[in-house]
Amino acid sequence: MLKMAEPIIHHRHPEFTELFTRVNNNLRNLFQTSGDVLTLTSSGTGAMEAVVCNLHQRADTAIFVNGGKFGERWGEILAAYGVHGVEITVEWGSSVSADMVVNALKANPAADAVYLTHSETSTGAATDIETIAKQVHKNSDAAVVVDGITAVGAMELRMDEWEVDAVVTGSQKGLMIPPGLAFLAFSERAWKMAEKSTLPKYYFDLKKAKKAIKENDTPWTPAVSLVIGVDTALEMLRAEGLENVWKRHERLARSIRSAAKALDLRILAQCPSNALTAVTIPSSVDAKLFNKTLKNKYGITVAGGQGHLKGKIFRISHLGYYDELDMTAMVSALELTLRDCGYKFELGSGVEAALSAFSE
Ligand SMILES: *Cc1c(COP(=O)(O)O)cnc(C)c1O
Repeated sequence: MLKMAEPIIHHRHPEFTELFTRVNNNLRNLFQTSGDVLTLTSSGTGAMEAVVCNLHQRADTAIFVNGGKFGERWGEILAAYGVHGVEITVEWGSSVSADMVVNALKANPAADAVYLTHSETSTGAATDIETIAKQVHKNSDAAVVVDGITAVGAMELRMDEWEVDAVVTGSQKGLMIPPGLAFLAFSERAWKMAEKSTLPKYYFDLKKAKKAIKENDTPWTPAVSLVIGVDTALEMLRAEGLENVWKRHERLARSIRSAAKALDLRILAQCPSNALTAVTIPSSVDAKLFNKTLKNKYGITVAGGQGHLKGKIFRISHLGYYDELDMTAMVSALELTLRDCGYKFELGSGVEAALSAFSE
């Protein structure tokens, strides 16, 4: 935050070029790719849109998995560009299997891309990208596209090794800075598709960004302050070590899941993400009172449910700048709130479970 408050520098000044070169190198490590990671000035959805309008031609067919708000969004973007979207519907909280994707590919041999969500933030469910990508490539020539918006910097994701063709993320999730930047990487296969793409685009024409990044430059004025911020964030991640960052998220997620279990609360996702945990609000607890108490009395912000899950779940973030004590405070506040809402449980049992999980 302090870095971003410093006087602005010009984006064609050598000082910026030096900084942006470091950002680009660190982004390659974060995405685990030897290719370029493009920095776009937009929210994460802008990068999702950029993937669609750069990969496809008019009337292409693509498969997408709708297991929540963000998977659904892939479908909406495909539709907006006239790409025929074949939907795999997954119950919210469940994760798509490789078999389901392979079956959809067999039924739709014209599909040239599969759109997935690594960490479905609306349900807290994780997708096994490594296995699915392998099966997609074994059974087709389709590109594997991954919305990594709450996964990158939280969960193991190895773009090159797993042969993922497109990955996107946003600045306000695992990168820990305010919203406003999105990051996107394409594989060789994806760039070949981009060469042939006929869909309309201008600001998000990634060929322009790819050309500019060769000189560690951007085609348009970037959000310079945010790039300065992300430089600091990426250096923090580099200092901790990417694998340690993944492990920390795993540890924090495990502690929250253990605490929820000890408090007899149901976790929505069968295969949970390490970025967040979606927890069902017990039927004996008034959802409005719960949210109000947690926020106003104990100063903890959690997200509610989206769509049909509104009022039914709350989502605890353990994504980004968090450590063990943050989780302990979170669980303490959760227990006090549940107590205030008349929920019956043994006070301290959630905290005890969270603390025990740290040393597992
Ligand atoms: C936050 C989020 C998005 C949307 O990003 P915006 O920055 O709000 O456009 C998309 N997908 C996932 C999985 C997200 O968590």
